[in-house]
Amino acid sequence: MKEIRMVDLKTQYNKIKEEVDRGIKEIIDSTAFVKGPAVTEFESELAAYNNSKHAISCANGTDALQVAMMALGLKPGDEVITSNFTFVATVEVIALLGLTPVLVDVNPKTFNLCPSAVEKAVTEKTKAIVPVHLFGQAAEMEEINRIAKKYNLFVIEDLAQAIGTEYTFEDGTKKKTGNMGDVGCTSFFPSKNLGCFGDGGAIFTNNDELAAMLKSVVNHGMTKRYYHDHVGVNSRLDAIQAAILRVKLKHLNSYNQARQKAAEFYDKAFENCPNISTPSRFKKSTHTFHQYTLIANEINRDNLISFLSEKGIPAMVYYPVPLHLQKAYADSRYSEGDFPVTEKLCKTVFSLPMHTELDEEQLTYITDNVLHFLKMA
Ligand SMILES: *Cc1c(COP(=O)(O)O)cnc(C)c1O
Repeated sequence: MKEIRMVDLKTQYNKIKEEVDRGIKEIIDSTAFVKGPAVTEFESELAAYNNSKHAISCANGTDALQVAMMALGLKPGDEVITSNFTFVATVEVIALLGLTPVLVDVNPKTFNLCPSAVEKAVTEKTKAIVPVHLFGQAAEMEEINRIAKKYNLFVIEDLAQAIGTEYTFEDGTKKKTGNMGDVGCTSFFPSKNLGCFGDGGAIFTNNDELAAMLKSVVNHGMTKRYYHDHVGVNSRLDAIQAAILRVKLKHLNSYNQARQKAAEFYDKAFENCPNISTPSRFKKSTHTFHQYTLIANEINRDNLISFLSEKGIPAMVYYPVPLHLQKAYADSRYSEGDFPVTEKLCKTVFSLPMHTELDEEQLTYITDNVLHFLKMA
């Protein structure tokens, strides 16, 4: 059996090696390392893939969020509502820009922002909501957009874990993540569903004026060369990464299908296990399984993880600490116990290996061992 990893980028690369290597070589031969045709072409292919009018590349997903907040004109003191159960990037850029993060609890089943908690958190200072489409499933965007409209707030989607996920509105309209708010931010970190060979990110919008502003902010606030109209940052996608992403983008749908297939295998194997809850499906969203995340009920999660580790099966906890209990983001407004759902999830969730290259032998070995542990517990 092949070694089991949380993410198997090596096997995935071997299948597209020739085309990727050729793309990289072309960039080296052209010496157009920053910006240049590969980046522009990738941006238009990415926009077309996502059904977005504009896709603006940048250096990473964290920058994408920061640039979006800068381009929307958010100012120190403005409040931004986001999920407490997510990767740190959102609150990090909020802090860097001097904005005030307002954390809210999540839905215990979908792990995504709880709309009623969002509405309760709105104040006169609120300027934006950042829904994170966690683990590959879209947040409750219809409700979030309704709240945003009611209070005149910007919506910044974080689709770093959900590129290719589709959401269906009540009236039947379908939209891909990144098109439901004012702006959508994604990451091409190697382990993401569309990953490059280093850092990369992109920002989606369907608003021409905002697109012009985003393009300027990522490139030192320039509109014309050496004319700086606003404060910007240096956040560009390397041409080599763009060349790799152009190849991988063509496979993204089949990569997401491979993840869904692995998820179905897990679901089926665990369907009669009351001690673990498999990921619930939110009926309005597809799931692209950036992670396959379960909840341990009544069993000791950490013992299960150590047991699996002894058998050569990696399992991870995304995320072990809620943002309000992180040292860097400690805040007198919040204390332990304020976010019961998030706090419980941090103690009970665990993620099994999830990637595009899992074969049946590996999946059987993983599920057999989980079931074996549950029988002993
Ligand atoms: C990965 C990730 C980011 C940040 O992306 P980087 O490219 O690593 O900066 C932001 N938000 C979420 C939810 C992520 O998973």
